[in-house]
Amino acid sequence: MATHPLRPWRHIDRRKSRKIRVGTVEVGGDAPISVQSMTNTDTGDVAATLAQINACAEAGADIMRVSCPDEAATRALKEICRESPVPIVADIHFHYRRAIEAAEAGAACLRINPGNIGNATRVREVINAARDHGCSIRIGVNAGSLEKHLLDKYGEPCPEAMIESGLEHIRILEDNDFHDFKISVKASDVFLAAAAYQGLAEATDAPIHLGITEAGGHFAGTVKSAIGLGNLLWSGIGDTLRVSLSADPVEEVKAGFEILKALGLRHRGVSIISCPTCARQGFDVIKTVSILEERLAHIHTPISLSIIGCVVNGPGEALMTDVGFTGGGAGSGMVYIAGKQDHKLNNDQLVEHIIELVEKRAAEIEKEAGA
Ligand code: SF4
Repeated sequence: MATHPLRPWRHIDRRKSRKIRVGTVEVGGDAPISVQSMTNTDTGDVAATLAQINACAEAGADIMRVSCPDEAATRALKEICRESPVPIVADIHFHYRRAIEAAEAGAACLRINPGNIGNATRVREVINAARDHGCSIRIGVNAGSLEKHLLDKYGEPCPEAMIESGLEHIRILEDNDFHDFKISVKASDVFLAAAAYQGLAEATDAPIHLGITEAGGHFAGTVKSAIGLGNLLWSGIGDTLRVSLSADPVEEVKAGFEILKALGLRHRGVSIISCPTCARQGFDVIKTVSILEERLAHIHTPISLSIIGCVVNGPGEALMTDVGFTGGGAGSGMVYIAGKQDHKLNNDQLVEHIIELVEKRAAEIEKEAGA
């Protein structure tokens, strides 16, 4: 739960869900909201798939999903699961054999809708395979692929149809005494997704996987996801999330973390507070921030850094950050440490010096946490 003893207006009350496991990662309950992404390589190309998983894990992904459209994919999955630094969710559509193969190959979770894989015997076989291999299941309802009987009943994809679809899949798992599942009700429309998730959150205590599906390209998709997911997370809904972008999966991970960081629900790496710049700036803020973002990407410890162009807002922002720099006159500015003025610094030493300070502070925070 995100609480702040001195700033109660920062508080988000998380919905109480039950906890499940996706391999080594807990999802639901009081577990941190996990960030997921999905590979877009040919799953059969183990090296390329693992390279993408590793890049996402390095960016902070807690869980990665991999498509398993055919037998070659589930064959490759064995090595992928063995070598991956994070648990793997196998993405299965319709084919019960792929689900069983994925469970046998070491997937930590199956993304499959039990109502779409055939008769009760097949469903039971998949559930037994999941149980035998310690796999959880993610029910993934999508507005774009609702069951025909629900479209006939409701006329078009709507929150009620999506919730009903989710509850039907849940019932199948529960009838088979399987409870290690989470659920998503994704739509590309933020209103539809939000209403479906809100209804679902009231109808079940299962952990909820959030997503605005097919959100779009990097920039527009990030904005749309931030609005849709941000609204739900702010109201306490969501135990794990994926931002879906037509972009490098690493960008999905970064966007996911930024959304959680903005809401104070999760902290990772350097949070840079910087001004939009204007004629008052005492140094090139935009260029400096862009270099710092890249050069500080290796730091995973939560730490805040303010880089502000002038004294209008610099000292005030620096009060609330671990390290700060505020532009001044005559080619120099002021460095702040833990909110206090510390020393003057020439602009030409800015980047290297700030990197040094942030690395030092990150090491201290790590040490304090380990003590
Ligand atoms: Fe302009 Fe100073 Fe505000 Fe930055 S902090 S936008 S430089 S007034």
